[in-house]
Amino acid sequence: MADKIKKIAVLTSGGDSPGMNAAIRSVVRTCAYMKLECIAIYRGYQGMIEGDFKEMNARSVNNIINKGGTILKSARCEEFRTPEGRQKAHAQLLKNNIDGLVVIGGNGSFTGALKLNDEFNFPVIGIPGTIDNDILGTTYTLGFDTAINTVVDAIDKIRDTASSHNRLFFVEVMGRDVGHIALNAGVGAGAEEILIPEQNLGLDRLLDSLKRSKASGKSSSIVIVAEGDKTGKNVFELKEYVEEHLPIYDVRVSVLGHMQRGGNPTCFDRVLASRMGVKAVESLIEGKSNYMVGIRDNQLILTPISEAIKAHTAIDEELVRVSDIMST
Ligand code: ATP
Repeated sequence: MADKIKKIAVLTSGGDSPGMNAAIRSVVRTCAYMKLECIAIYRGYQGMIEGDFKEMNARSVNNIINKGGTILKSARCEEFRTPEGRQKAHAQLLKNNIDGLVVIGGNGSFTGALKLNDEFNFPVIGIPGTIDNDILGTTYTLGFDTAINTVVDAIDKIRDTASSHNRLFFVEVMGRDVGHIALNAGVGAGAEEILIPEQNLGLDRLLDSLKRSKASGKSSSIVIVAEGDKTGKNVFELKEYVEEHLPIYDVRVSVLGHMQRGGNPTCFDRVLASRMGVKAVESLIEGKSNYMVGIRDNQLILTPISEAIKAHTAIDEELVRVSDIMST
């Protein structure tokens, strides 16, 4: 099996995240180091179907380790969800003599990779690239560290104006159905309250907390709201609710939006991407398939993709407790 892999392809798919370029660079350079051919597939599965391929060498990935986004572009591809679409994609892989595939993306991209393997026995390895940190089998996904640092930086700036005007700010952050960005960035930025989907504490608790905060002498407050939170109100409705029930507060809203997905990756994400890229190529060479590369206790580990896509990672309860204590 070990000498079967001669040519590896790499693609990015789904939402982009900082660190994807560093992972592409790592895959390409590891192939060069191992004397394997490497093919870049542009625009994810769409590019695979259309044969949007390019040969890469070690120099093709110069000066990208520091860049956000993905030089290979990303795409959502409906056709790949169909057996006919995957048939076309597989035909392109065969036509180009590709022996193995590294998919950098999230749950959806991994599901597609798994189907490619199921239907054509094509070797695939996944690298988790998403800012949401919601994939089982890894403590950190690529881009999460950069995203929480971006959020902390933004909240630090919001805090300056909040404290100058004695205001309460609701800051909405990304994370889809999970609260990892909200909780980590919230603790890091010293938020008074953090509303996450995993914990619906209810609006009464929010009002109580804000009352206590005012009574204890705090003049300004930051409340982080994960986009998937379960209060049943969006940030603008939360503002109205608090203004109605606690008129002492002058409330403002900030939705951080897509800025959280961009920017230069942190050193942590660059190192993680470099390590994961090496592991992905080595795993294919060793004849492994259908695994996702992850990190736990600073060790790279492989988790079957079928496990990784089963559920979201649970919230860190210890950090929830720390956040409760810190908001005293
Ligand atoms: P993000 O976490 O940013 O959403 P993702 O990888 O989960 O990233 P998706 O849009 O869910 O992003 O999936 C990316 C692509 O993977 C889809 O456009 C599609 O081509 C392919 N894909 C997703 N789900 C499936 C599926 N069930 N079967 C086949 N292909 C799929």
